[in-house]
Amino acid sequence: MTVLAVAEHRRGDLRDVSFELVTAGRELADELGSDLAVAVIGGDVEGFVEELNREGVDTIYTVAEGEEFNHGIYAQTIEQLHAELDPAALLLPNSVNGLDYAPAVAEQLDLPLVTDVIALEGSDPVEVTREQYGGKVEITYDIGAEQYVLTVRPAEWPTATAGGEATVETFETDIDEGALGTTVKGFEEVGAGDVDITEAEVLVSIGRGIEEEENIPLIEALADALDATLSSSRPIVDNGWLPQNRQVGQSGKVVTPDVYIAIGISGAVQHVAGMKGSDTIVAINTDPNAPIYDIADYGIVDDLFEVIPALIEEFGGDVP
Ligand code: FAD
Repeated sequence: MTVLAVAEHRRGDLRDVSFELVTAGRELADELGSDLAVAVIGGDVEGFVEELNREGVDTIYTVAEGEEFNHGIYAQTIEQLHAELDPAALLLPNSVNGLDYAPAVAEQLDLPLVTDVIALEGSDPVEVTREQYGGKVEITYDIGAEQYVLTVRPAEWPTATAGGEATVETFETDIDEGALGTTVKGFEEVGAGDVDITEAEVLVSIGRGIEEEENIPLIEALADALDATLSSSRPIVDNGWLPQNRQVGQSGKVVTPDVYIAIGISGAVQHVAGMKGSDTIVAINTDPNAPIYDIADYGIVDDLFEVIPALIEEFGGDVP
């Protein structure tokens, strides 16, 4: 029996979720008493193999098809890998790409699909947990099938770090070009010229507590002093004060920086879903009962308009 995980890469780099899938996949494979296989499709597959060879992976399947993500190539390749390996579980990233092809694959293979999985338990039957109603409740499902497809939420499992001894196999896929449906013509970053908050090591994140757009330069000065990147909760984006690609949370981006500084953010479940994987969380909020303090490592219960200028000065910046 096999658990098959599919790695994700972008612009020549494997994404962290690939190594989280190794951890989740190994956990499930141990429950099922099975092997763990990881497939990497397209890009610099040979280069990726070395990185993916982490403890817990039994076999790495390389598929030399395409440079960047293409829905049709992924869907067809995974269906063919599934036919060949007959895995119990297919583990995919709950990412923009993963959510693009996972439903198509599940439908084509006539398998049940559970998205945005945050916990896995047992083997007979496997129990799969996901959040519901905007994160207000957690629901655990009995899969009730011997084969299934799961998309795994990024930053829920630790990344597998130790080196492994996986066997590497080349998988020859037979792509039906006529059925691809999409052609990749080029690659353009969303919000070209702007930053990718998922790559930032330090995020200074603002919420409704900043009150007015005119106060953003104050926070930018702190970000400059800390060499950090600016992100936000949803109301800031809804107000049009920052672009959507700066939004952290359930309907924004999942971030895992070394340091996340939440300024005037209450810590609603939909926000926390996007940043709870940060290594160190600092909260600045006047309300000592704000939920953000439940997950913060450090907190400053005070008015941000007092605290931020003091921090800028402390870190050698210029208060605007
Ligand atoms: P508030 O909840 O209004 O909090 C403002 C905080 O600032 C308060 O805690 C207050 O005490 C503090 N404050 C006020 N003045 C000061 C001051 N002078 N100094 C210090 N602190 C001060 N939200 C997201 O962020 N990301 C998402 O992706 C997201 N997706 C959602 C998806 C759905 C389906 C739904 C229903 C909601 C979603 N939300 C999301 C919205 C979410 O529910 C909250 O409304 C939002 O996160 C609140 O943002 P906030 O913390 O900035 O504002």
